[in-house]
Amino acid sequence: ADAGVPGRVRVAVRLRPRNGEEMIADADFADCVELQPELKRLKLRKNNWDTDTFEFDEVLTEYASQKRVYEVVAKPVVEGVLDGYNGTIMAYGQTGTGKTYTLGQLGEEDVADRGIMVRAMEDILAEVSLETDSISVSYLQLYMETVQDLLDPSNDNIAIVEDPKSGDVSLPGATLVEIRDQQSFLELLQLGEDHRFAANTKLNTESSRSHAILMVNVRRSLKSSESNGNSHMTKSLKPPVVRKGKLVVVDLAGSERINKSGSEGHTLEEAKSINLSLSALGKCINALAENSSHVPFRDSKLTRLLRDSFGGTARTSLVITIGPSPRHRGETTSTIMFGQRAM
Ligand code: ADP
Ligand code: MG
Repeated sequence: ADAGVPGRVRVAVRLRPRNGEEMIADADFADCVELQPELKRLKLRKNNWDTDTFEFDEVLTEYASQKRVYEVVAKPVVEGVLDGYNGTIMAYGQTGTGKTYTLGQLGEEDVADRGIMVRAMEDILAEVSLETDSISVSYLQLYMETVQDLLDPSNDNIAIVEDPKSGDVSLPGATLVEIRDQQSFLELLQLGEDHRFAANTKLNTESSRSHAILMVNVRRSLKSSESNGNSHMTKSLKPPVVRKGKLVVVDLAGSERINKSGSEGHTLEEAKSINLSLSALGKCINALAENSSHVPFRDSKLTRLLRDSFGGTARTSLVITIGPSPRHRGETTSTIMFGQRAM
């Protein structure tokens, strides 16, 4: 899938560095993957003498900076949104492999650590003019096929509404906050994170068992001369052109398989629900990759939410996150396969 080409999913793989425990406990073992970023290739070790090779649109090593990750994964999607096209950026992978670090890191201690959400807003704020344009944000959690408002905890069952004519998806019940500067956006993300933690404590679950979804609506009023370059036309005769773009950033639930035989009740229901939404997502991505006329958006709330920001004229970027440890080779393999099927 080519950069910024609408209707196709651009897939990047990102490897996180070994953590302290992996450096000590697995010191004698080689990483289960080897990256060749210039060739955009990943080699997955099957055993001591055999590897499988996979190609991706981008291969991001453990040395890739957050800035570079933003540029290759998110920037083309954000530019599309500023031009009036919807777009989606998603992170898929096992818990602990860096989805939230990639998307949601606030970078309070070091701005170099800032993730995709914060960098995207920085670019949007730099581009729009707040006298004529507006930026509004919703922040949601999707848990067990229920949409919860991370900006208002009392709002815990939000309906997804689809306009039958335009196909636009909206969440009329969700809090929508106008953003005027980066500071208020950082505070909103932090508030959403605090509410997410509280809600999940109440539900007796982990944040890795739900999807976190940030929606950024950008509405721009461009003078006709700006939008089509027809400067010989008398400006006052033409109304301003309104461009609306929506950016959806999805920090997906952990993709690891829950051992179904060992789990029961609550955990089993959670596992089934995550499985349903991730497999529905996979099917939609595959349908797009195969240029199929039928994309099964209706199969889950996650895909219903993404319907107008995915495929068609929208730009979609998927980053799959993996860890280096040979202990997780099984999960790493299944993450790589999810990414491969999207291409
Ligand atoms: P996930 O959201 O997939 O469960 P996290 O983003 O929470 O994973 O990452 C797990 C841990 O690894 C965190 O402490 C995070 O800061 C760290 N981490 C993840 N990716 C990187 C990276 N590329 N560089 C440095 N630390 C990372
Ligand atoms: Mg996370």
